[in-house]
Amino acid sequence: MVVGGGTNLLVRDGGFPGVAISLARSFSRIEAGPITGQIRAGAGASLSALCRYAEKERLYGMAFAAGIPGTVGGAIRMNAGTAWGAMACCLSSVQILQKDGEVIRLEKHQLTFTYRKMALPPEHQGGVIIGGEFLLDQHPDGQMATTKELLAQRRRSQPLGLSSAGCFFRNPPSGPAAGFLIDRAGLKGKRIGGAEVSTKHANFIINRDNATAEEMLGLASLVQKMVHRQFGVTLEPEVEIVGISRCCERGENLSEESLPGAFGKIA
Ligand SMILES: Cc1cc2nc3c(=O)[nH]c(=O)nc-3n(C[C@H](O)[C@H](O)[C@H](O)COP(=O)(O)OP(=O)(O)OC[C@H]3O[C@@H](n4cnc5c(N)ncnc54)[C@H](O)[C@@H]3O)c2cc1C
Repeated sequence: MVVGGGTNLLVRDGGFPGVAISLARSFSRIEAGPITGQIRAGAGASLSALCRYAEKERLYGMAFAAGIPGTVGGAIRMNAGTAWGAMACCLSSVQILQKDGEVIRLEKHQLTFTYRKMALPPEHQGGVIIGGEFLLDQHPDGQMATTKELLAQRRRSQPLGLSSAGCFFRNPPSGPAAGFLIDRAGLKGKRIGGAEVSTKHANFIINRDNATAEEMLGLASLVQKMVHRQFGVTLEPEVEIVGISRCCERGENLSEESLPGAFGKIA
């Protein structure tokens, strides 16, 4: 498994039974490309460093990403974004290390972007993103809030400074946002062990006090159940759940639900 900053991951208590490679301390160069408005960034560079670089170069179009933690590679893979835009808006190409060791470049039109996901073409599946090229505007977009405004908005509305993996659930394709539904279900402040539904932003499940992954997932499952019961909406996790539970580590009960990517079903 390739890991960027790990900011969108929840690892089960039994750990990850394999090799996890983090690019966060390498592939971190950020530089101007040969075309005006172009920036090249390594996958291990932090997304905030890329935003700062763009701002310093007076290039516009990346402010939407201000405050999203993690790396450029993770952000490309997740098509990270906010109401103001997503990586798909400003990415022009990616550099991929294929399974056979060859490094290739894929243009934006070869990639499939959906809500919080970027997929490589089937023949390049499993490739590691080692860098991306971004094409930004030389003129500010009058509609776009500034980095400073967006960071302030984030500080006001999110429980920053407390451990979490950001929004736990994806927003449903239509209708109210996940956070709104969780709030309306009366779940703000709900706790299981050390895990808590944030009182500031209901879609954040925070690690308030040494929570185990089991407690975080137990609370997420409760949230999922209550929202489904009250509104008939099935919330899907945005956070990626990887690794195995403790019982699997001991060799007990290796069920499908314990495998990477699986999540508790609605009872
Ligand atoms: C406080 C907080 C606020 C957040 N706010 C937002 C927000 O506003 N918008 C938003 O979209 N997200 C948000 N997130 C979630 C998260 O920060 C983003 O999804 C981020 O882009 C993940 O980057 P990362 O480097 O940490 O990726 P990781 O969590 O390490 O990995 C995410 C996925 O990408 C894959 N991956 C990582 N690097 C590579 C690579 N080089 N090549 C191939 N695959 C790779 C991993 O295998 C994994 O599947 C927030 C998280 C937190 C904790």
